[in-house]
Parts: sequence; C-alpha cells; structure tokens
Amino acid sequence: RASVGPKYLTGLNPEQREAVETLDGPVLVLAGAGTGKTRVLTTRIAHILSQGRARPAEILSVTFTNKAAREMKHRLGQMLGHAVEGMPWLGTFHSIGGRILRFHAELAQLKSNFTVLDVDDQVRLLKQLLQAESIDDKRWPARMLAGLIDGWKNRGLMPSQVPSGEAAMFANGKGGKLYASYQERLKILNAADFGDLLLENIRIFREHPDILRQYQQRFKYILVDEYQDTNVAQYLWLRLLSQAPSFTSPRVRGEVASRSDAGEGDSPSAELVEAAPHPAPLPMKDGERERTKNICCVGDDDQSIYGWRGAEVDNILRFEHDFPGAKVIRLERNYRSTGHILAAASHLIAHNEGRLGKTLRTEDVEGEKVTVTGSWDSEEEARGIGEEIEQLQRQGEKLNEIAILVRASYQMREFEDRFVTLGLPYRVIGGPRFYERAEIRDALAYLRVINSPADDLAFERIVNVPKRGLGDATIQLLHDHARKRRIPLFEAARAVVETDELKPKARGSLRDVVAQFDRWRAQREVTAHTDLAQIVLDESGYTEMWQKDRSADAAGRLENLKELVRSMEEFENLQGFLEHISLVMDREGGAEDDAVSLMTLHSAKGLEFDNVFLPGWEEGLFPSQRTLDEQGRAGLEEERRLGHVGLTRARRRAMIYFATNRRIHGTWSTTIPSRFLDELPAANVEITESKGGSAWGGTGGYGASRFDDMEAFGSTYSTPGWQRAQANRNRGGGRNGGGRGGFEEEAATFSSSPSSGPDFGSF
Ligand code: ATP
Ligand code: MG
Repeated sequence: RASVGPKYLTGLNPEQREAVETLDGPVLVLAGAGTGKTRVLTTRIAHILSQGRARPAEILSVTFTNKAAREMKHRLGQMLGHAVEGMPWLGTFHSIGGRILRFHAELAQLKSNFTVLDVDDQVRLLKQLLQAESIDDKRWPARMLAGLIDGWKNRGLMPSQVPSGEAAMFANGKGGKLYASYQERLKILNAADFGDLLLENIRIFREHPDILRQYQQRFKYILVDEYQDTNVAQYLWLRLLSQAPSFTSPRVRGEVASRSDAGEGDSPSAELVEAAPHPAPLPMKDGERERTKNICCVGDDDQSIYGWRGAEVDNILRFEHDFPGAKVIRLERNYRSTGHILAAASHLIAHNEGRLGKTLRTEDVEGEKVTVTGSWDSEEEARGIGEEIEQLQRQGEKLNEIAILVRASYQMREFEDRFVTLGLPYRVIGGPRFYERAEIRDALAYLRVINSPADDLAFERIVNVPKRGLGDATIQLLHDHARKRRIPLFEAARAVVETDELKPKARGSLRDVVAQFDRWRAQREVTAHTDLAQIVLDESGYTEMWQKDRSADAAGRLENLKELVRSMEEFENLQGFLEHISLVMDREGGAEDDAVSLMTLHSAKGLEFDNVFLPGWEEGLFPSQRTLDEQGRAGLEEERRLGHVGLTRARRRAMIYFATNRRIHGTWSTTIPSRFLDELPAANVEITESKGGSAWGGTGGYGASRFDDMEAFGSTYSTPGWQRAQANRNRGGGRNGGGRGGFEEEAATFSSSPSSGPDFGSF
C-alpha cells in the first residue's frame, strides 16, 4: 500500500497501518513487545479524530497507568499538530469508572462527592465491623478480609454472588455477610473503594439498561492497551459497553493454574482457548454485527504479569470468541531493541509453554550483547551499577534514558542509598521511594521516639499502630495536656496515665506504651542499634501486624522492614542512621529533569529506556520463591514473562546482574544464579566483571551448579569461582561475621512480592 495520507500515518508499516485504518468492528492487535501496539492505539485515535469519525468525548480509551494516559495525550497532540481539547474518557479503568460513578452516584446510594478509600481506610472500617460482630481480629485479620473482598470485586462478584465455599473461608462462613455489611457501611460513609469504581458501574449498567445504552451510544470507539492484563471485572465492564452480542459468565480464578499446569502436549494456543469453559458465543442475529462496537484491544500474552492480582490472560486468548468476526492483526517488527537484546528476550520466553507464540524480528543493528555480571553481594551490585551509570553519563548518556528494574521493592533501598551518596538524581516510578513507604515510616517513627521523646509527629504516628485502642479521643486528650503544660506528647502520656481521665482500657494500653519506650531507651545503651530496631519492631507488635496481614503486599512490607534493619548496619549508631535518613528524605523526589528511574519490573510495563539494568537475577528472588511455592509452574511462567518484560524495555543496552550472597531475613545466604540466566542464548550474551570492586573478581566463571547446563555460560564455566568466593569469606571479611559459623549453602528462599504496582488512578 502506498503511504499516502495524513502525516501521522507515514512511517507505519502495512500491518500497523491496517490496525489504524480498520475503524469498523472489533480489532485485536496481538503482538510482541516494542512492535508499536501503543503507537497504533494513539495513531488510531488521531485518525478517528482527523477523519471526523468521532469527537474527543466519544472515544473511550483505556491505559494501564495514569502516566501512560498523559503520555498518550501528549503524543496525540504531536501527531495532530495541536493540543487535544478534552479527552475526558482517556485514562485507567479506575479513573474512568470513577468518573462514570460520580455521574450516577445516587444509583449506588452515594453522593457525587463520595470519597475513594485507600487500603488503610478499608482495613480500619473492616476492623470496626469485625468488632461489632465479635469476631476475633487476631484469628481473622481485617486485612485478610480486605484481600478477599478485593479479589471478589476483581472478579465482578457482588456480595450475593460470592460462592458459598469462598465465603466460608473467613470467620466460619461469615465472609459473605461481612462483605455485605461492609458495602452498607461504605454507603453510609459516602465512600467507595477501588474495586467499587468498576463494580458499581457494572451493577448500574445491568440494572439500568437505559443508562448503559446511553454510554454505549456515546462511546463510538473503544480502545484498550495492555489487554492481556485485564481482570474479570474490567472485562465485564468492557463487554457491557461494547455491546457484544453474547455474554458468557467468566470463569473464576484458580482454574488458571491447574489448567496450565496440566497443559502438556500439543499447540498451547488451541489448548488454552479450548480449555476455557466458556460456552461458544450465541449465533448473532441480523444486524448485530453492525451494532457491535468498534473496539480495538492491543496486548501481548507474553507480557501478562498481573495474574497474582486477578488478571486473566484468557481475556486476550478469547477475544475472537467474544467478538465474532474480529480482525486479528499481528505485528512482527520490533522497533525498540537491538538484535542481541531481542534475541535474548525471545529465547528466554520461548521456554514458556502456555503461549500463543509470535514472531519478532528487528531490522535494527545487532548492537551490544546483553551483559551478565556477577557480584559478591547486593552492596557490590549497587556500587557496580552506580559506577556503570556514572560512566554512561560521562559518555553522554542521559540519566532519563537509564532505568533499574527490580523484582522486589526492597531491592531499591540499596540503590537509593548509593545514589544519595553519589549525588545522582533518581526517581522511583510506580511507588514511593523506599524510605517513604508507610511501613518504613512507621518503623522510623518508633526509632525517632526512642531517639527523641519530644518528636511529637513520630509519636502520634505510631501510638496506635498497631491498634491499641488509643483512638482520636485519647490523642486529643494528650494534645490538650501537652499544650497546657508545654510538654511533648510523650511526656503528656506519662502524666495522663497517672490520672483517671482515660477509660481503664485506654489507660492500660497507654501505660504499656510509655513503659515500652522507657525500656527500649534503657536498652539502647547496651544493645547494638540494629538489634534494638529488631526488638522494637517485634515487641511493639508491628512485625506481627504485617505477618497477620493477608493482603498481596504484606510480604513485601515485611521484606522492606528487614531491609531497613539491614541498612542500619552501615551506620555506627541510631543517631547517625536517623541523620542519614533525614538527608535522604530531604531530597526533593522526582523534581529533577534528568534522573535515573528506579522501579519494579511490574511498573515498567509499556515503558522503554536506552539503558536498562536488571539486578538480582538469583533463584528465590527472581524467580520469586513465593510465586513458585504458591503457583507452581504457572507461577514460574509468569516470572519468566516478567523477565521478558524487563529485557524488552531496553533499546540499546540490557545489563543483568546477580549477587553471590544476599542477606535473607537478616542472615547471609549463598544464592544460586537465576535459572533464567541458563535460558539466555550464549550467542547474545556477554559475561562481564563487576565494576564495584570485588572480593572475588576472577574471570573464571561463577561456579554455581546451575551454570553447568547454562547455554550462555557452558563454554566459560571452568574454575569454581564460587569456592574461591567462599574461601575469601571464611578468611573473615568483617561484614559477614555476626555470629554465624560459615553460611548457608541453601538457595535463597525468601519470598518477594511486587509491592508496587501500576498507579490505578491513585492506587
Ligand atoms: P510494549 O509491548 O512494550 O508496550 P508496544 O508494542 O506498545 O510495546 P510501542 O511502545 O508502541 O510498542 O513502540 C515501541 C517503540 O517503537 C516506540 O519508541 C515507538 O515510537 C517505535 N515505533 C513503533 N512503530 C514504529 C514505526 N512504524 N516506525 C518507527 N518507530 C516505531
Ligand atoms: Mg505498549
């Protein structure tokens, strides 16, 4: 096809162009990373607008993050040559759902100014409900219930629809009833949680066909990016709006793992589609094809990485069933990465079985090989990467074009500390910086009160965390006392417990708090500050609070707390540590124009950078042991997709790192390089040495058993470098001391969870 036509179309390849120009009927673009799926979506909007097919307010366009929505709007402006006025329906599922809900709030027994609750509010509310029902919060933690409710909402289930078997999972069958009373409470408080933003839409659409029709008519075009990661609720919502002719109730999650675990044998794609227990679509009546919305979804089954949060990769596999007559377009040319990077990424993902299989090619140069660098421990890893970044900077690379992608958020801490030391600007994407995370701030607040009893802000933050029955009234009383007598809150507390101004229960709790802090302060004189921190977290009940928490991010928070304690080792005492923290916190986050990006692999979806660092490729960390334990082979495949996402973010350089030793739950453990390293093709990978200065800087291979069968390393593996490393360590490099005779040979077994996801609205 000749490339005549509007300017924004020039440069597109024929398949991309087809995806842009096929405006009528359902279209699925199923294509690998970097093939221009997002670009196609953006261009499609430009095309719709410039062809006068619809006005901006008639286009529903769903992105995975708010950032991606802003980016799309910006690109759109560039393509059309003028800023686009009003694209009110361009955003995440949650932001669009929230907008619709505000218009019809009264149908959900809300007012249009309803508040959107965050997780903490949600848990607080559930705790009250548990109390009212006299359910033991220790045995049945509110956070667990929050997680269950969230899961139900992700699957589009109203309280009455929760399968009784699942309702039984909480408080002897009270789960469903609690979910119902929680929903009632939300209405009274004029509040909605994140799940409601879509769920209430779905309910309103179902109960009020006239309203649904209004939206169906309004949205002339629907576009969805990252379709492989939509969950059931999002899917239902889209189905309703797209006026698809048939509607089949979705499978519940849980069958995914068993199905793909069993999935040996022939063509995975056929099997995946057929195994899905969806009835075949109803035959279409005359004219229905015409009424089916112009919906265009783009996605890549190899980048489905949110299964743990209810995403259903089947949604993409089923598109042709759901939208009969859909045009499926495949894009095969990758415009992002150089040859070696693309080959490495494709080779890695080829080890997965449950995939549709796609061709990806680049016409770009071979470029530099993917590097794999071993370092002694995570500190050396951070130092090495820091030096590498400084070198890239000297070569003229922009910091904006450098990203570090980690598997677990606690890994960020070491990099952040390193960057602060180096004065290297950085920003954390998709989540708060390490020291700004809620659990870290809580822990720091405890330490600050020990260090300075006059630190009122810190005291107020944790006096009732974990919950001790010290509510607002108590805090108010303390404030009154403190103000009147011009003393810190802590001293006010000490005084108040001697009076009878508080109810006996609150008085008892407050007295305990004061006594605990007195004890910790005394201990401070005789205990190492790292030990003291651990004692404080344990004795205060703070660690336990998160251990009991069953929400998806609890494990990540516990890891962060461990990492905090570990980070204190580098300082002589508590005072020194807290001073360092105040310096780190003082840095204006993200304000710099040019800064290194630090984020989890999960948050990196859809993004691209010239230079990508991928640290921590070790068994247990990546792939995450917890995912393997919980989800078996399906989990391994999701981890591998995550690796694939990581590698395919890189345009010119991908640099993988692993450390031979990592501190796990406070103890040093020997780690085994990730099995994913075994799965990289030798021809596209180069082994390099850490710039971080090494205790074992040899060139003779890495000595881990894994490397025996490693494709990339088979030829280089010769001397057991690992044994040398061990010898160095046993000679007593001071930092590995600490009371352990030798160290564990076992693989890393700590769990890791992605504790920061995409910014669902303001998730
Ligand atoms: P991902 O799966 O990672 O989200 P994607 O398929 O959405 O990737 P895009 O981000 O749209 O891919 O495109 C990847 C890069 O390739 C972008 O920098 C984009 O501008 C560029 N690109 C896409 N198509 C073309 C083209 N026809 N000519 C030149 N560059 C292109
Ligand atoms: Mg994309």
